[in-house]
Amino acid sequence: MENVDNCPRCGRLFMKALRDICDHCKKELDQRFEKVYKYMRVRENRAATIEQVVEATEVPEDDISRFVKEGRLKPRQFPNLTYPCDACGTAIQEGRICESCREGINKDLKTLETEQNVKDRLTQEERAKYKTYQSLDLDGEKRK
Ligand SMILES: [Zn+2]
Ligand SMILES: [Zn+2]
Repeated sequence: MENVDNCPRCGRLFMKALRDICDHCKKELDQRFEKVYKYMRVRENRAATIEQVVEATEVPEDDISRFVKEGRLKPRQFPNLTYPCDACGTAIQEGRICESCREGINKDLKTLETEQNVKDRLTQEERAKYKTYQSLDLDGEKRK
């Protein structure tokens, strides 16, 4: 039963193997996507912001964000559609996090890497010392 999980969108139990949300949500989202896409396809609406789309289609902002995030609505075609950064909520159009969060994470990663390097070097040196010690000891044994 490891493939059964609660749908992150509605909380129902569903089979996780096929997709990350349940069938009910998938159907609902598909219908809502059609609605949003129909609206967005109209030339004058291409530059609509999420708020305007919500107002016109009555589709919740979360769902529209999801469409943009999943690439179903392309920011290249619809320049004012955005979704919130996973970390801080800033409006973004690609990736999972915004520029400044990415920079912050990169910095953290670098610090982590440096720390890891220092640790690795230490253990290597320690290991080398230990090896030398062992082989000296062995040689001593052999000599006996
Ligand atoms: Zn669901
Ligand atoms: Zn951010």
